[in-house]
Amino acid sequence: MQADFRLSRTFTSARLFKENDSSYTRTLVVSDYGLRFPLIFVYRNRIQMSAEQKLSKVELLKAASHQLRGTLGEEIQNDKPEFSDDAATLLKHHGSYLQDDRDTRKAKGTDGKLLGKHYSCMVRTRIPGGRVTAAQFLAELDLCEKLANGTLRITSRQGFQLHGVLKGDLREAIRAINESKLTTLAACGDVNRNVMACPAPYKTKVYEQMQALSQELAEHFKPRTRAYYDLWLKDENGEEVDTTEFKPVEEPIYGVRYLPRKFKMGIALPEDNCVDLYTQDLGLMAIVEDGSIVGYNVLAGGGMGRTPSAEKTFPALAHRIAYAAADQVVAVSEAVVKVQRDFGNREDRKIARLKYLIADWGVPKFRAMVEQYYGKGLPDPHPAEVTGVDDHIGWHEQGDGKLFLGVNIENGRIKDEGTLQIKTGLRVLLRRFGMETRLTALQSVILCNIDPHDKAEINRIMAEHGMKNAEELSLLRRYAIACPAFPTCGLSITEAERALPGIIDDLDQEIARLGMQSDKIAVHMTGCPNGCARPYTPDIGLVGKAVGKYTMFLGGNPEGTRLGFIYKDMLPMEDIVPTLVPLLIAYKTDRKGPESFGDFCTRKGQEALEAYPA
Ligand code: SF4
Repeated sequence: MQADFRLSRTFTSARLFKENDSSYTRTLVVSDYGLRFPLIFVYRNRIQMSAEQKLSKVELLKAASHQLRGTLGEEIQNDKPEFSDDAATLLKHHGSYLQDDRDTRKAKGTDGKLLGKHYSCMVRTRIPGGRVTAAQFLAELDLCEKLANGTLRITSRQGFQLHGVLKGDLREAIRAINESKLTTLAACGDVNRNVMACPAPYKTKVYEQMQALSQELAEHFKPRTRAYYDLWLKDENGEEVDTTEFKPVEEPIYGVRYLPRKFKMGIALPEDNCVDLYTQDLGLMAIVEDGSIVGYNVLAGGGMGRTPSAEKTFPALAHRIAYAAADQVVAVSEAVVKVQRDFGNREDRKIARLKYLIADWGVPKFRAMVEQYYGKGLPDPHPAEVTGVDDHIGWHEQGDGKLFLGVNIENGRIKDEGTLQIKTGLRVLLRRFGMETRLTALQSVILCNIDPHDKAEINRIMAEHGMKNAEELSLLRRYAIACPAFPTCGLSITEAERALPGIIDDLDQEIARLGMQSDKIAVHMTGCPNGCARPYTPDIGLVGKAVGKYTMFLGGNPEGTRLGFIYKDMLPMEDIVPTLVPLLIAYKTDRKGPESFGDFCTRKGQEALEAYPA
């Protein structure tokens, strides 16, 4: 079976012994890959076998899936509107989530009976560094109209999402994305997902190195399974592939069970942490000397998700682990991923992210293990630290005589609504000028390589479609992001994307009244504690806790270097702005020097903040 294929390759030459047992053996028998599997611990040139650990259901499913195929091949063909649970779990690795319309879950027919779930799929495109051609962007816009709900979403990880794709149209959607030379493979699932990188298109060696590394890492960590091609694409002769035939390929990094949990990477500069390095499983902070990146600080173990019912879960900032020279950073990254592969928790998915392994081991042990996998010691991190963040919105010079324009897309949703015709406006711009684009981590888009002579015409087209330029937008709105939540996300507890614009409208008014428009205050909102819009690191984090109620976090910062603290729990949505106003007034009068709102909240602490009169 497939499990034996991989395990035999990996471990036949390994020296194994049981904990508390000094007898060595050269044989690892995996007679039954179904129920229990011995955990392997590699440490200081030896492999130790711990007490047996029960694998989670998802681990067993992945292992027995014929490299992420499972029953997807048959289920794509049937007439059902949904996938089975197991197929839906595997489907994530192919870049799609099965969802249902949360707005209509309780809808009843004329007979008073529930109509049942209205299923569709979210299709996520993985785009390293957020780099998209005009043709690719237009292809996704076409798809959102042809096969999805008429809108296209820019994600908080520089990808695209289509929502509302029916199961029967899924193959057509994935094929069309691949025809545009993009992919959905590994956009979700227990693998390395989209590699983020600063999207600013400055024509300097440093910015081009970051973009190039994002492409290299994405390629290096791409799953090697052929399942994606067999299931969704046609063969080289344009023929359908026989999905019943399974020819295993080696997965040199992932093995048969892939990673214990999702894995996220990002690359940025200390002076512009626009991809939130400290929230990544692996953050690579570029160190520059003489106009070139010479290496990276390796930050590991960041992650936002938490489960309120599970005390053992928590959001975490990444730890500064070591320094990797530029020509070694892929090898060091591979070592980090492999340590997580071999030691991450595979019994309990709630605590399977890398952050829990590091919390369990501590940084010194984790670093020692990474060095072990890498094959030699690593230098300590460079002293550089994050000093700033830029949303890249507005007009900027690229450095080659051309301009780029960052266009804010509220919560990443590209749509036409009333006088705001962003979807049509972008179409006009992309068709007319054919410029490359970059997607940002704040769910917006950068139009690149613009001839300065075209600036006035582009401004005119934007105004014609109700699209606002940087100077027409408050910093508050520019730095606000939300996850999709209702009506598409199966995990959402309450609203986020649909609620945040109204909250920002009200907060904007208060901030204007206080004359604080030039203060950079970041608000991130999510519909559940899973934290897809990174709500635990900005000045203000709003995390859905119950229907219409939120946990309010304060004390983070736009630079993403500090976790906020819980200021209020179960806060009704209508109380969010009234709760913040007295604190903003206090900040205006009591702040010290250039401290940010988050700095102020952290310095004061919850008790002192609560003492300010409402
Ligand atoms: Fe869904 Fe929660 Fe992620 Fe929002 S944070 S998209 S509600 S899982």
